[in-house]
Amino acid sequence: MKVEIEDMDASSLCDSVSSLVEGCRLPVQMKGTSDWPLAEIISMKDIEGTKWYYVHYVDFNKRLDEWITEDSLDTRKVHFPRKDLGPGTGVTTPKKILIGSGIGSGLNSNISTSAQTSRPSSPTLNPASVELLNGNAVLAAALQKKMNRKKKGPSLESEDSLDCPMQQNLQPTPQPPGPRQSGSMVSHHDDIVTRMKNVEMIELGPHRMKPWYFAPYPQEMVNLPCIYICEFCLKYRKSRKCLERHVIKCNLRHPPGNEIYRKETISFFEIDGRKNKVYAQNLCLLAKLFLDHKTLYYDTDPFLFYIMTVFDHRGFHIVGYFSKEKESTEDYNVACILTLPPYQRKGYGKLLIEFSYELSKFEGKTGSPEKPLSDLGLLSYRSYWAQTILEILLSIKPVGENEKPQITINEICELTSIKKEDVISTLQNLNLINYYKGQYIVTLSKEIMQQHYKAMETRKIRIDSKALHWTPKDWGKRAKW
Ligand SMILES: [Zn+2]
Repeated sequence: MKVEIEDMDASSLCDSVSSLVEGCRLPVQMKGTSDWPLAEIISMKDIEGTKWYYVHYVDFNKRLDEWITEDSLDTRKVHFPRKDLGPGTGVTTPKKILIGSGIGSGLNSNISTSAQTSRPSSPTLNPASVELLNGNAVLAAALQKKMNRKKKGPSLESEDSLDCPMQQNLQPTPQPPGPRQSGSMVSHHDDIVTRMKNVEMIELGPHRMKPWYFAPYPQEMVNLPCIYICEFCLKYRKSRKCLERHVIKCNLRHPPGNEIYRKETISFFEIDGRKNKVYAQNLCLLAKLFLDHKTLYYDTDPFLFYIMTVFDHRGFHIVGYFSKEKESTEDYNVACILTLPPYQRKGYGKLLIEFSYELSKFEGKTGSPEKPLSDLGLLSYRSYWAQTILEILLSIKPVGENEKPQITINEICELTSIKKEDVISTLQNLNLINYYKGQYIVTLSKEIMQQHYKAMETRKIRIDSKALHWTPKDWGKRAKW
């Protein structure tokens, strides 16, 4: 009798793990922490008798997805995928699913839309910067019409911790293959394969980086412990030996294309996606490792790429980049934008953004990044917009004695090349706009000014427009790019 009970216990315990299927949700211990957040099993594999589970933490960014073993699973609280929600409600839906525990059988069972909707791993907002401003109006601005559009959103983080990788998600839902529909990506079927990280490690110059997301490197590359990438031409090799052989032949010491900006050690190179196709494609592949969306890989012709580098005695090392459509019908001045992980949180992200607006200034246009922005991207942009607009507001002088300084929204747009909607939403996010005696005024408190000056102290590197040697091309007048 005793034996039977033990057997039963053993089998029920065993069952709880063996009945796990892709799509199950349960608490999982996050690697390196003592936290057990809810996670979804995306995939499973068996290696020499050990079962591995690829999990996505429901309330966290996909970059934290990982392979874990059974001991990290809390199988007492398993939610099995329900089939009654029907197919296609979420991108985390496995294409094929094994059904266990008597929940019936069916394809595309799922309970999740988490990959699209959950992004709480973004930096937390600083409540200090959201403080309402009061009293001492230093500035009156005639803000019209759109001002009373109520749009509540988080404010900026005042410190420069936003210097994170940025990205745009243009097509949040999977689209059938077709012609290019947006600036930064070519759509393709979103499936279980592209939802899982497939590259273990990359080596780029002196840096080793652990990728965050899937990238479509060739199959023979992804099964390796590390992909070795030439930091100048971005070609990839299977081993360090292969790369060493390549480096002997590769005489690039900077990205191809024209160097259009140089100030101290910072340079920008402009690359035409048609003329330097291989480089542009390799750049997109590399970038995809750190961008959570379907970026373009092959049709690079309609884009320009701006590569930011730092110089040392060995050459010009890539720090980050942004891409930009040669012709944007919607005034986008950035498609994809990324600071590589080793250079994050050092102010380079904001420098990339600043440079993109500097180009727009040279073009005599206002511009905006493609929407929607990612979590980190939005924070970076908000912070940039806030600092740039506050800089303008604090610099204007009153026209006459006892007058308050005045500026219009349009003037702010002209001075900064920031698109009107972004200027307005920034002023609203900062809670700077008040309605007073029949007109909209912007009031700046001591607190907001102090925060601003403090934030600006951390922005040591800035773009110097005098160091930009560039003439915009009118791509619209050309028959073909
Ligand atoms: Zn090379």
